[in-house]
Amino acid sequence: MGKKTDSELIIDGIRLDKRLPDQTREIKMKVGNIVSANGSAEVAFGNTTALASVHGPRPLFPKHLQESQTGILRVRYNMAPFSVTDRKSPGPDRRSVEISKVTRLALEPSLFLDDYPKVTVDGFVEIIQADGSTRVTGINALSLALASAGIPMTSLVSACSVGKINGTLIVDLNGMEDNNSESDVAVAMMPDKDIVTLLQMDGMLTKEELLHLLGLAKKTCGKIYEMQKNALLEKYRGEE
Ligand code: ADP
Repeated sequence: MGKKTDSELIIDGIRLDKRLPDQTREIKMKVGNIVSANGSAEVAFGNTTALASVHGPRPLFPKHLQESQTGILRVRYNMAPFSVTDRKSPGPDRRSVEISKVTRLALEPSLFLDDYPKVTVDGFVEIIQADGSTRVTGINALSLALASAGIPMTSLVSACSVGKINGTLIVDLNGMEDNNSESDVAVAMMPDKDIVTLLQMDGMLTKEELLHLLGLAKKTCGKIYEMQKNALLEKYRGEE
């Protein structure tokens, strides 16, 4: 994806994909696509699609990895080779190892893992299509998948990206915007608890800009949270 000059990214307050600065792409959520998993969900923000599956709680082997007082969450984030226009080489790389870790850290605070000593909950995030903001899309999907697996949770975790392009503060960066941004910030939170579980920032912002972006992220995560609850209700109402 080529570098563009800043002035081409937003014209008269309208982004190249016709969005307003505080507008997300079209968001789609579906729960329960993978029948062999204990829980699963697919979340799309425009052309970024994440498929998440949860397996467990199940006994953890080898035994020396077990924690006697608590269960553990293991997370693997992976970008499919066909998820980007230039084929991505398969398998883990530094980026996917880091994103797996921050995804786990973003979700752990929502789980009652102490109720499951010695067991593991395994979460997989597959990025089927990547067009920016894949880590936050994956976190939304995995949070839904954990809930659909019936894992006790204090709240759903909702996540979005915010950032700055061409001097304008924006919500939900697509791939082009991400590659050319002055700053991008990934935020995950438990909106009903007002707790932030992930905050990662690239680039430069003033304190006022960062505070403004956090306000935009809070508003956006609140909307995503409502959509997640509706996606779960849609699935389980249908099964009553
Ligand atoms: P995030 O996807 O969470 O925003 P990054 O900032 O690392 O994380 O990536 C930004 C975007 O760059 C991705 O969403 C994807 O569109 C693109 N990208 C990332 N890794 C690759 C890759 N190996 N090949 C091509 N594009 C990539």
